Amino acid sequence: GVNFKGLLKRNWLLIATILSVLLGISLGFVVREYASFSQLDKQYFGFPGEILMRMLKLVILPLIISSMITGVAALDSEVSGKIGLRAVIYYFSTTIIAVILGIILVMTIKPGVSQTAEHIDRSGTTPNVTTVDTLLDLLRNMFPENLVQACFQQYKTKRKELEPPKVSVNTTTIPPLTTTVMAVNITKDYKIIGTYSDGINVLGLIVFCVAFGLVIGKMGEKGRILLEFFDALNEATMKLVQIIMCYMPIGILFLIAAKIIEVEDWEIFRKMGLYMVTVLSGLAIHATICLPLIFFVIVRKNPYTFTLGMAQALVTALMISSSSATLPVTFRCAEENNRIDKRITRFVLPVGATINMDGTALYEAVAAIFIAQLNDFSLDVGQIVTISITATVASIGAAGVPNAGLVTMVIVLTAVGLPASDVTLIVAVDWLLDRFRTMINVLGDAYGAGIVQKLSKRELERMDLTSDVDVANP
Ligand code: ASP
Repeated sequence: GVNFKGLLKRNWLLIATILSVLLGISLGFVVREYASFSQLDKQYFGFPGEILMRMLKLVILPLIISSMITGVAALDSEVSGKIGLRAVIYYFSTTIIAVILGIILVMTIKPGVSQTAEHIDRSGTTPNVTTVDTLLDLLRNMFPENLVQACFQQYKTKRKELEPPKVSVNTTTIPPLTTTVMAVNITKDYKIIGTYSDGINVLGLIVFCVAFGLVIGKMGEKGRILLEFFDALNEATMKLVQIIMCYMPIGILFLIAAKIIEVEDWEIFRKMGLYMVTVLSGLAIHATICLPLIFFVIVRKNPYTFTLGMAQALVTALMISSSSATLPVTFRCAEENNRIDKRITRFVLPVGATINMDGTALYEAVAAIFIAQLNDFSLDVGQIVTISITATVASIGAAGVPNAGLVTMVIVLTAVGLPASDVTLIVAVDWLLDRFRTMINVLGDAYGAGIVQKLSKRELERMDLTSDVDVANP
């Protein structure tokens, strides 16, 4: 009865979403063909999509705060430490696998060697971001100096420029990069690096909520009020997410249609063909072979059923290119369809959306070596190892927002002495590749939740047992 109805409704939404993607793409091409639009009209066209993005972003804040605090407080500190460690090991090893896969593919396919990208405009600017800056920024972000500020302000690095900055990448030079613009825009004294997330310092909030949750968990009776408060907040937010998801098909239709109308250069896809094939096949192999294999070995369940359960989140990620903004949907799919324990999702998903980016890591390694090939720059083993390490750091440092990976790409290039300005070569196709790598980022987080749940089965069962006793004999 009830369950079947719920199941039907979920599938209805998924079907509607997929149909709206197809419809949106067709609509985009039709309108492109038959209507002439000024720049301003194009903006109007995407408006319903803009509203969807705003709604999704709106719930990120209450969702992250309530899920992290309750997630941590519900476990005792020993158990949460173990679960956290398992999650980190999972994040790290899958990211490395993705990087290695990317390197193998790009060295085999050699997309940059055959002069495919010969006619690409190489004039560009040099964003100035280094590995140390990114690492320091990551740490700085973990300790926001002001909690309220962490909820709405981008982070600026505190390092002063020794020489006047050579460049600044801005909206006029790179139209598709509206989100990242702030990230590479170099102001007079400071520069901003891509570890912010659309105005929310997610990492900082996570660290605070973990600490806060741990303290609440240890407070006993007195902490209970807070725990119940945040638990209720979490439930209410998830109800809101459910309502937002009903609007999703409409928003997505206009989001993708507006994008299709807006793209100015389709020819670039042909020029960049082999490069895109390399990135996309890497992502596909990681999603359909590497991750499922690890999942199967550990969880012993059908990984593809698991992937299907995440379908709504994957389509969302593909459409909005942001792990953070997809987070509400990721939660729903993981908990409702794949039945992952809330104590695990609340912990693993928000952290994963911020630091676990397999797709981005793979992409950064491929792009760096592609640029090396274009420059006839031969890489030795040491440099390839450097690329692997910096690509991993760059993926951790990238926020879960559109095009973030493109900004942190600069640290990979500078680390091996490639011209950072060559990032502009791959900018034109990033709006498309970003969507796919975000999808793989989200899938990796979901698999992580499934795997960590399996590995933590004993602790979770023991906790169920003790809490049952507590309820029975208060
Ligand atoms: N857009 C990606 C994400 O949100 C990050 C990236 O640009 O690679 O996961």
